[in-house]
Amino acid sequence: MIKTLQPQYYDAVIVGARCAGAATALLLARQGARVLVVDHDQPGSDTMSTHALMRGAVIQLKKWGVLDTLIRAGTPAIRRTSFLYGDQVFDVDIKPEHGVDALYAPRRSLLDATLAEAAGATGAEFRYGTGCTGLLFDEARRVRGVTLRAPSGATEEVCAGIVIGADGRRSAVARYVGATVSRQATNSIACVYAYMSGLPNHGYRWHFAPGAAGGIIPTNEGLSCVFAAVAPGVLAEARTNGTASHEALIARHLPVLADEIAGAAPVERPVTFPGSYGYFRQSAGPGWALVGDAGYFRDPLTAHGITDALRDAEVLADAVVRGNVGAYPTLRDALSSEFFEITDQIAALDWSMEEIQRHHYRLNKVMKANQDRIAGIGGALPRAA
Ligand SMILES: Cc1cc2nc3c(=O)[nH]c(=O)nc-3n(C[C@H](O)[C@H](O)[C@H](O)COP(=O)(O)OP(=O)(O)OC[C@H]3O[C@@H](n4cnc5c(N)ncnc54)[C@H](O)[C@@H]3O)c2cc1C
Repeated sequence: MIKTLQPQYYDAVIVGARCAGAATALLLARQGARVLVVDHDQPGSDTMSTHALMRGAVIQLKKWGVLDTLIRAGTPAIRRTSFLYGDQVFDVDIKPEHGVDALYAPRRSLLDATLAEAAGATGAEFRYGTGCTGLLFDEARRVRGVTLRAPSGATEEVCAGIVIGADGRRSAVARYVGATVSRQATNSIACVYAYMSGLPNHGYRWHFAPGAAGGIIPTNEGLSCVFAAVAPGVLAEARTNGTASHEALIARHLPVLADEIAGAAPVERPVTFPGSYGYFRQSAGPGWALVGDAGYFRDPLTAHGITDALRDAEVLADAVVRGNVGAYPTLRDALSSEFFEITDQIAALDWSMEEIQRHHYRLNKVMKANQDRIAGIGGALPRAA
């Protein structure tokens, strides 16, 4: 007798096991859903990203019981954020609010793995080294599952109540479902970042100079992530004349930052981000949804992608549990729209020192409103009706 193997079934298959995917898995699994998460990458691997978390993210990590693990792993507390407009310095101490009295910037290798471990402990299944190579559709074009390629090269079909693309900017799930871009940013920065040892933890230090921005982000193992951002054209030109190194960019465009890091030593090869325009993508349809960068990307200069990914994981998981995924993109866009617009203005790098301060003032108001909602004040994170 020939036996036909039935495809496996999960309530949700999530493609991408980093901050957006692992957080969504954690929240769905805690609601009793049967969840499978797949990722090309290996657990605990790094990715191209600095990792400054804002208060909204810290509130959520604490609420989910994950923050203590990050702290026990040696993630230093950030107790001050300083804005340096040329040589003018504005220090903002992190006051206790919403049960959080410090910010944190865990390395992605730690943050993503910690979220995945928490989701795994709740019952979500993780398959690493595994790619999603296509989607399964029913006759009405509703997504009903995925095709996967295991590390052995074997392919498999897995059925799901919903397929969630948490697979980043180049989202394969978005491509497979034909998700359209509903809004695109007009500006992008390019940046080079490197990890340095020997810098004291004075908190987040955000530097601004004509046509450039930079910063110092204290992180694990006594290291600081130091970045310099310029316009993509400026970086491309520097590359042609051999002045695109981390050190040369900072020396040329951010002299105050150069003074601040004098004597510190880079410990890893610098990473270059050539630039990428922000967007909103259509983020839900029959049997599918997108979360994190797969559905919404804003320029990294406002350091908010992870904070937004965690927020949207909660908004999406809530919509899935309530059976109203269609409401999720509207809610997500309402929470993100103004932030996206201000980020685009900041990423233009064409502001005067007075203008960038005004942008920051507006940004701060929007961030505060988001944090209050995440903390359940002034209206909790909106719920799908
Ligand atoms: C230079 C730079 C600096 C940044 N700095 C900050 C910052 O300081 N603070 C901040 O909050 N945000 C920052 N961001 C933004 C942040 O990196 C992103 O918002 C965040 O990584 C989004 O997480 P994600 O889980 O949505 O996607 P990703 O982190 O991109 O993860 C997607 C995962 O999907 C997997 N995947 C993709 N396709 C498939 C497939 N077909 N099958 C299986 N797996 C697949 C990939 O292997 C990957 O592991 C920065 C971004 C950049 C580029």
